[in-house]
Amino acid sequence: MERTLSIVKPDGVKKNLIGEVIKRFEQKGLRIAALKMLRMSVDDAKGFYIVHKERPFYDTLTGFMSEGPIVVVVVEGENAISKVREIMGATNPKDAAPGTIRADFASDIEHNIIHGSDSKESASYEIPYFFSSLEMF
Ligand code: UDP
Ligand code: MG
Repeated sequence: MERTLSIVKPDGVKKNLIGEVIKRFEQKGLRIAALKMLRMSVDDAKGFYIVHKERPFYDTLTGFMSEGPIVVVVVEGENAISKVREIMGATNPKDAAPGTIRADFASDIEHNIIHGSDSKESASYEIPYFFSSLEMF
């Protein structure tokens, strides 16, 4: 059993896709272990994406991620990390496989609706960034 962190990004919340994202997880047999809505400050977003601090898109990404509310979710299941990545699709919606969330709804490589941890190591940084053990079930 594995846990991963997913986020419905500000563009996903604006496009009314919270339910759609959660439905896709549940339909693939994944379980929601924790969930909340919040708005990050720019500094919160910078801390969350600290691994990307040298990348050219760091400033626009952290601006975008703090521009409105997000929904953060802990998703649990067998191979949850790779399953969520599959359901999401490639970072750039132009490269995302048909039927993935990003292929279906993302407008561009930055505004791509959803986040998912990319490894066990990232999940173990990202989950406690938002949730305490008392908030996971
Ligand atoms: N991103 C961007 N420009 C890029 C690559 C990524 O704006 O050239 C944004 C995009 O929102 C992406 C996030 O930065 O989801 C994190 O990038 P990463 O490479 O980790 O992609 P992900 O793991 O989200 O597919
Ligand atoms: Mg990533």
